[in-house]
Amino acid sequence: MSIILSPLPYADGALAPAISAETLQFHHGKHHKAYVDKTNAAIEGTPLAGRPLEDVIAAAVETGDKGLFNNSAQAWNHGFYWNSLTPHAQAPEGTLAERIDASFGSLDALKKELASQGAAHFASGWVWLVDRGGKLSVEQTHDAATFTDLSAGNPLLVIDLWEHAYYIDYRNLRPDYLSKVIDGHLNWQFAADNLARSTRWNYPAA
Ligand code: FE
Repeated sequence: MSIILSPLPYADGALAPAISAETLQFHHGKHHKAYVDKTNAAIEGTPLAGRPLEDVIAAAVETGDKGLFNNSAQAWNHGFYWNSLTPHAQAPEGTLAERIDASFGSLDALKKELASQGAAHFASGWVWLVDRGGKLSVEQTHDAATFTDLSAGNPLLVIDLWEHAYYIDYRNLRPDYLSKVIDGHLNWQFAADNLARSTRWNYPAA
């Protein structure tokens, strides 16, 4: 059993025009797949083969294997990112909506924080909505850094800030990509599901 390329939860054209089918075909079919393939190549024939992706990431952190960490963490981040997006605009409800209001003042304020931190982030990385024991925050990680760098935080949503996420559609205009995704395609139901569960989301196994 090896780490799988987690499937897109929608058709590759379902997020257009915010994210084109071409972007998703490259992003999922080339970039995410490469991270998965390189992870599998690295763990083949080792005790990590057949283990959940979260265990592979934890082992890479423990041993300081930077190559394995980069590929395995990026595989996880992309699985989480696909689920953070949805074809149709949603609004947060229930407990999630209450926590957003309590933590940021309003949904608009949270959206502005995601957009401004996402635009300001230098080079490659990710911008997350994180639950820290009931208090929500917007946080950034660099390069492949993942939930392991969010210490005790539970990730609710993530947006990919790597150029491969938007360059085909927006060239250098990362803020335009961010506003389209934040306004129309964040999966607040996924965020609510993550908030409700006591453990972090798990990458799908074969
Ligand atoms: Fe990416």
